[in-house]
Amino acid sequence: MKEILLLKLGEMVLKGLNRRTFEEVLLKNIRRRLRGLGEFTLTAAQSAIAVEPQGDADLDEAAARVAKIFGIVSFSRAAQTGKSMEEILRDVGPYLRAELEEARTFKVEAKRSDKRFPLNSPQISAAVGARLLEEFPHLRVDVHRPDVTVTVEVRDRHAFLRGGALPGAGGVPVGTGGRAAILISGGLDSPVAAWCMAKRGVELTAVHFASPPYTSERAEQKVKDLLAKVGEYAGWVRLFVLPFTHIQEEILEKCPEDLFTLVMRRFMMRAAERIARQEGCDALVTGESLGQVASQTMKAIACTDAVCGAPVFRPLIGMDKAEIVAISHRIGTYPISIEPYEDCCTVFTPRHPRTRPTLQLVEEAERALDVDALLEECLAGARAERIKGEF
Ligand code: ATP
Ligand code: MG
Repeated sequence: MKEILLLKLGEMVLKGLNRRTFEEVLLKNIRRRLRGLGEFTLTAAQSAIAVEPQGDADLDEAAARVAKIFGIVSFSRAAQTGKSMEEILRDVGPYLRAELEEARTFKVEAKRSDKRFPLNSPQISAAVGARLLEEFPHLRVDVHRPDVTVTVEVRDRHAFLRGGALPGAGGVPVGTGGRAAILISGGLDSPVAAWCMAKRGVELTAVHFASPPYTSERAEQKVKDLLAKVGEYAGWVRLFVLPFTHIQEEILEKCPEDLFTLVMRRFMMRAAERIARQEGCDALVTGESLGQVASQTMKAIACTDAVCGAPVFRPLIGMDKAEIVAISHRIGTYPISIEPYEDCCTVFTPRHPRTRPTLQLVEEAERALDVDALLEECLAGARAERIKGEF
């Protein structure tokens, strides 16, 4: 039996005049993600998109990819059958057998866009319900809270049969929320932060600071692996790797130890902002969460943000570690994040970082450094690479 995918669009349907743009971006994203799986015809109708495979296109893999496209709240597989009650009744039971055998209760919903179809919607529902009760005697009808809702849709040329929907990735289509630069380390938090922003439609550029020889080639590869994972949702990402060793050595030598991390973070923000502007990004994104470490207290964050002209988004700011870890499991970044390679921050961690720094103290500490020259040197050493999502 021929199957299609039916994708239900998310909150973008509420966006009034922007809806068309949202839908166009989403269609483009779907086409791009399905590339390489064969030919599909996409049809947008009301708040859904039908994905119809042509020839031997791979629908299983298409379903797996669709589950990671932002802008789709839920999706289901549907069987395409003929436009007669005979064919509908013949196919519905066998097609939904696995799901119906698991269920205890069900209901049938019928929709009919072709009003010339001889039965109206309640009549279609009644006939299908009766047939399913015959074929699956253990089932009961429950119209309020059924285990499975069987939907029969009679359209222009075909009728479609489907059972329960699977959850989609939610959010809004990547490309509708502007562009931002994510400061990415090899840790648990920043990849999750990147995913959170992509979920809100943001296209990402990534900035990573490497400190060879203190950090290894493997640590950099880890960041690329993380971005490829996030890229399953976010699409392709351009990564900038910036050399940070000289800056860190200077800080280590010339600044008070309790301010190391903060001075370092201010350099990261300055450099990332420069890359961001150059790449057409309007914001920075970090994986910080309030109070998680000394550099993430409110006072420390205020000192960090003082060097930034662009808004800094911290989507994890109110999350607990456990919540962040749960997301990282769900999106597949967890096993990569816990690989044991040193990050530039772990290499130079002070013993007693100041948790209540003042801007005055930090600026004083920085006077010992040639901030501009160090920044230019760091930016001049930037290497860019395009990281493709893992699909
Ligand atoms: P993560 O798990 O993302 O590393 P963290 O809790 O370890 O976060 P920090 O190491 O203090 O926190 O870093 C805070 C934020 O600074 C990170 O979430 C990330 O956005 C950014 N950051 C840290 N190290 C780097 C790096 N080497 N390159 C780019 N950004 C970094
Ligand atoms: Mg870190």
